[in-house]
Amino acid sequence: AAAPLGRHVIPIVNKLQDIFAQLGSQSTIELPQVAVVGSQSSGKSSVLEALVGRDFLPRGSDICTRRPLVLQLLQTKRKADGTDEEYGEFLHLPGKRFHDFSEIRREIQAETDRDAGANKGVSDRQIRLKIFSPNVLDITLVDLPGLTKVPVGDQPSDIEARIRTMIMSYIKVPSCLILAVSPANADLANSDALQMAGMADPDGHRTIGIITKLDIMDRGTDARNLLLGKVIPLRLGYVGVVNRSQEDIMFNRSIKDALEAEEKFFRSRPVYNGLADRCGVPQLAKKLNQILVQHIKAVLPGLKSRISSALVSVAKEHASYGEITESKAGQGTLLLNILSKYSEAFSSMVEGKNEEMSTT
Ligand code: GDP
Ligand code: MG
Repeated sequence: AAAPLGRHVIPIVNKLQDIFAQLGSQSTIELPQVAVVGSQSSGKSSVLEALVGRDFLPRGSDICTRRPLVLQLLQTKRKADGTDEEYGEFLHLPGKRFHDFSEIRREIQAETDRDAGANKGVSDRQIRLKIFSPNVLDITLVDLPGLTKVPVGDQPSDIEARIRTMIMSYIKVPSCLILAVSPANADLANSDALQMAGMADPDGHRTIGIITKLDIMDRGTDARNLLLGKVIPLRLGYVGVVNRSQEDIMFNRSIKDALEAEEKFFRSRPVYNGLADRCGVPQLAKKLNQILVQHIKAVLPGLKSRISSALVSVAKEHASYGEITESKAGQGTLLLNILSKYSEAFSSMVEGKNEEMSTT
């Protein structure tokens, strides 16, 4: 099954790619990069993993993410016999395919240690990992170290400033979508995520608020007002999630089980009734997908003119063939087919007729 992040977008992107391929062009839509920001142990890596739908990131109650991990998801062709191959490849280990995702996690840890040492050191040198799968969208996700205040282990005294600079260098990019992760069991007014996202994206048009740890809030409290944006408003709003706990990690609880447990959590708590569109990882994926669809809509006019000029050159080429071959009619039909296919696809996408494009 497709990763939660992309389920609705993959068909659209694929359709566009088909159109480009027919025109002999490799060009395609470039989707914005998505980065997570928040304090240490707020649940950033857990959220990314849930969105990808695979277990492969170091997570834990201690500092785990100590180098930026640039995770490039690349969609591969589905195999005819149904045996889908999913594997990872690191930039620092070219040619080595990791089919076992827990091995990917071990390699991230080992490579983190190689550069940042084994004693909690943090480095701004990236680890670059590609995941090849028929089930993913071509998109880049960035897992970042969290903000910390007090140096531990081998960390320098200015660790906080260093991590801030590192995070900022990613989220200040105007096309970067920011997942601002704050735990529900700490005061939102103290959220590092919202503070940094607010600096990088003051208008809030590319920041999604994520509230984690709804399951371990203080007894008698709930996240209803947080999710409704009544505490700190956010233009694109908030989604509340329940990720796996440290105990779940220890017992190797699967993502699938975790998603079921999350669903049950929200279903069994009346306070979250009526907030279904703001609760759970699937809703977060849906929200992100909608933003990506909006992005595709916004870049379509540019693509359309590129296609038009590609068509013009195809037409010219065909015209010159036509003089020597005889099948002018055939060429014309071919061209017409291409043209009608692409304009159909475009108009249904732009007008949102395509079910997958629905943004409601
Ligand atoms: P990061 O440092 O922000 O990347 O956070 P991690 O994803 O590594 O998670 C830090 C710790 O918090 C881990 O022990 C997770 O199991 C735990 N955790 C993350 N999200 C939740 C959640 O929603 N509920 C509970 N109970 N624990 C969580
Ligand atoms: Mg992390």
